[in-house]
Amino acid sequence: MEDIFAEIEPQVYNSQISVPYQWWAGETASKFFTILRDEKKILGTECPQCGRVFCPPKKTCPFCYVDTKNWKEVGPKGKVITYTVVYRQLAALKKDVPVAFGLIQLEGSANAMLHYIGGIEPEKISIGMEVEAVFADEKSASIHAISHFRPAK
Ligand SMILES: [Zn+2]
Repeated sequence: MEDIFAEIEPQVYNSQISVPYQWWAGETASKFFTILRDEKKILGTECPQCGRVFCPPKKTCPFCYVDTKNWKEVGPKGKVITYTVVYRQLAALKKDVPVAFGLIQLEGSANAMLHYIGGIEPEKISIGMEVEAVFADEKSASIHAISHFRPAK
């Protein structure tokens, strides 16, 4: 059989596909985001065995493997555990570059959440820096209920 493609130079193009989808956040994240939206409170879940509080909340303690029970308010202040600065404008970024992302460990929490760091020039951000949550003007049952973290006053 004759190979009709043997003399065709293959051409490759770069493109992107968009795949919109939805999923249920689950009971733990749903409660966290609803209270964040309606009461502007940042809550974590407490392990009944070791007493650690997790924010973002966890349904199960990753140390004891038991379900967390109580909800405890954490923050709104915390510290920068680590951070990075993005200088390339990507389509997924909703803010203009340079934009800083940090892992923020809120007061009272054993873990850290990823969020924007703003209100400061990126080169002045440091690990261990005290920051505080700034709530967004627009209500949202998502992590965007917090606009960013800024240096604590
Ligand atoms: Zn535990």
